[in-house]
Amino acid sequence: MSSSILETEPVVNQSPRRPPSGGAKCRFCAAPLSHTFVDLGSSPLCQRHVTPEQLNSMEPFYPLNVWVCDQCWLVQLEEYVSPAEIFNDYAYFSSFSTSWLEHARKYTQAMTQRFGLGAQSRVVELASNDGYLLQYFKSAGISVLGIEPAANVAEAAHAKGIPTITEFFGVKTALSVRQSHGPADLLLGNNVLAHVPNINDFVGGMKLLLAERGVITMEFPHLVQLMKQNQFDTIYHEHFSYLSLTAVEKVFAAHGLTIFDVEELSTHGGSLRIYARHETHRDQPVTPRVGELRGREADFGITRLATYATFGEQVRRTKRRLLEFLIQAKDAGQSVVGYGAPGKGNTLLNYCGIRTDFVDFTVDRNPKKQGNYLPGTRIPIRHPDAITQTRPDFVLILPWNLREEIAVQLSYIREWGGRFVVPIPGLEVF
Ligand SMILES: [Zn+2]
Repeated sequence: MSSSILETEPVVNQSPRRPPSGGAKCRFCAAPLSHTFVDLGSSPLCQRHVTPEQLNSMEPFYPLNVWVCDQCWLVQLEEYVSPAEIFNDYAYFSSFSTSWLEHARKYTQAMTQRFGLGAQSRVVELASNDGYLLQYFKSAGISVLGIEPAANVAEAAHAKGIPTITEFFGVKTALSVRQSHGPADLLLGNNVLAHVPNINDFVGGMKLLLAERGVITMEFPHLVQLMKQNQFDTIYHEHFSYLSLTAVEKVFAAHGLTIFDVEELSTHGGSLRIYARHETHRDQPVTPRVGELRGREADFGITRLATYATFGEQVRRTKRRLLEFLIQAKDAGQSVVGYGAPGKGNTLLNYCGIRTDFVDFTVDRNPKKQGNYLPGTRIPIRHPDAITQTRPDFVLILPWNLREEIAVQLSYIREWGGRFVVPIPGLEVF
């Protein structure tokens, strides 16, 4: 019906960037979406590495236009690609990051202490990946269960002896897990809340699986940090939502869950760890930190459209600065290689149009990525030894959240005068 109108009516007053939403609705509150937060063009799925056999085939590209809902302030991408397609053969194995393992180990100690977890407790992790975190609870004698939709990483968890159910989490899975294993005393999910298209089904499932006096903890990148630190490259199809405490409190409250504490973490460029419980479990009091952060988000402007409107130009400026640097380096005959093949690197490289004309190759410690090519840009992924073999002038660090760790690991590039480049928050050469 609407297409016949488009065919017969002249196009007037068309937005230079993107037409209005075409009927997109907020995944939490169902309000129509009409405000663009940032438009990064189109990209392929950021974890879908191209194998040598696929080099002559096409890749599907999907839009990366991010909306902000002016009713609940949930920042979101439409579900262009289903999670089944995205996570079917996921290439990210948490255990390959040393600092992330350390983060997980400290978390398990802190939770065991704070909530008195012991042999009688049950810990359930949503999106448990390769068992990188549950292994620490298990070795403390606590009963664990992982729920992980990506079959290949779940297999790695099984190999570690971590019981893992290969399912997407939601109301249906919650009901069957509660029946087969019992309710969860600690229900956790790190970097998963942003990855679910049906956020109501996911949080509704947590409500069902949580023991009466149980605790939920979730970590997710903080939208305020994304904006303040210009982390637009963390936008990709796997991340359906970009979360503030303000929006997440609304989602949890709609499902009878109260956020009783919140911590700000440095992981992934600035994350929140929220603590939630049933709204009826009042002997777990709400700490002053919740109201304090909610107030700071309001001061930042999280509930004003104008705050979101300035982000796009900041992003376009970053693209121009990075291209300026690369053009100058190449004009001077210098070589640039990448370090890492994270999802965020692919958003950056595709948005900026950077291929092997600027970056010869990238390296990654994950052997499953080596020998393949980055999606879209087709930059080869090699073993880290390729850096010592080729002695590049510049190493562009793609996972900028691990820049300190990587700069130490690769300090040997100083021997031949090599330098590091970090593109975000702003271009830096050191
Ligand atoms: Zn909304």
